Amino acid sequence: MDYDVIIVGLGGMGAASADALAGRGLRVLAVDQFDLGHARGASHGRSRIVRQAYFESPDYIPLLRRAYALWDTFPADCRLRRVGCLMLGPDDSRLVAGATRSAEVWQIPIELLTAAEVTDRFPQFAPGPGDVALFEPDAGFVRPEETVAFLAARARTRGAELMTERVHSWEVTGHGVRVWTPMARSPPSGWCWRLGPGHRPWPRRWRCPSASSDGSSTSSLQPGMRLGSGPT
Ligand SMILES: Cc1cc2nc3c(=O)[nH]c(=O)nc-3n(C[C@H](O)[C@H](O)[C@H](O)COP(=O)(O)OP(=O)(O)OC[C@H]3O[C@@H](n4cnc5c(N)ncnc54)[C@H](O)[C@@H]3O)c2cc1C
Repeated sequence: MDYDVIIVGLGGMGAASADALAGRGLRVLAVDQFDLGHARGASHGRSRIVRQAYFESPDYIPLLRRAYALWDTFPADCRLRRVGCLMLGPDDSRLVAGATRSAEVWQIPIELLTAAEVTDRFPQFAPGPGDVALFEPDAGFVRPEETVAFLAARARTRGAELMTERVHSWEVTGHGVRVWTPMARSPPSGWCWRLGPGHRPWPRRWRCPSASSDGSSTSSLQPGMRLGSGPT
C-alpha cells in the first residue's frame, strides 16, 4: 500500500498531523502500537494547560497563536477553556521573569500581582513573602483525550487510515520510504507500507516524535477501541 505520509504514533501530535494532512488531500496512514486512548504515552488524562506567555521562550508564541485559532474551531468539549493561569514565584525566577518577558515581547495581556494581591484574589494559595505572580487571563486548559479522539475521528472521515500496529523499523528505498511492523518479519502475512514513488520528502517537522513510557492502565477514553486492521 502506498501513502503520501505515514505517521508513527497517534497521540496528540500524530492525531493532529493525521487530521491536518488528510484535510489537505494527502493519503495518510497513521499507526500506533496501542489502541486509541491508551495511557502509555503523554496525551492521556483529563486536562492540559495551554498558555501563551511561555517562560521557556518567546519563540513559541507564533505557534501558540496559530494553535489558539485552531482550538477555537473545535467542538465544544475539545475547546480551550480560558480560565486563566497563575504563575507564582520570585520575580527573578525563570518562570515569572521568562513569562513576563514573553508577554512583553508579544504584548500578551497579563497582570502582575504582589503576594498580598494573590492572597486577596486567590486565597487558596499562600505565596511566600518574596513571591510575586503573573496572571494570564487568556490561558486555560484543554481536554486531551477528547481532542485526540476528535482529531483521529476527523482524520478518518477525511480519508486517513488508522491502525493499531507497532512500527518495527523503516528504510529509505529507491522509491520512497518503507515502514515495517513486526508482522512484516513473518511473510507471507507480513505488513509493510510505503511512501509512494511520487512522494515528496517531508520536512522534519512533519515527523511524529516517537515516545514511549511504561504504564498499564487503560484510559477512560473508549477502552479497547481498535484503530483498524492492516493490509498485506
Ligand atoms: C503528566 C503530564 C502532564 C502534562 N501537562 C502538560 C500541560 O499541562 N500542558 C502542555 O502543553 N503539555 C503537557 N504535557 C506534555 C504533553 O502532554 C505532551 O507534549 C503531548 O501529549 C505529546 O504528544 P505526542 O503525540 O508527541 O506523544 P504521545 O501522546 O506520547 O504519543 C506518541 C505515540 O506514539 C506511539 N508510538 C511510539 N513508538 C511507536 C512505534 N514504534 N510504533 C507505533 N506507535 C508508536 C505511542 O504508543 C504513543 O501513542 C504533559 C505531559 C504529561 C505526561
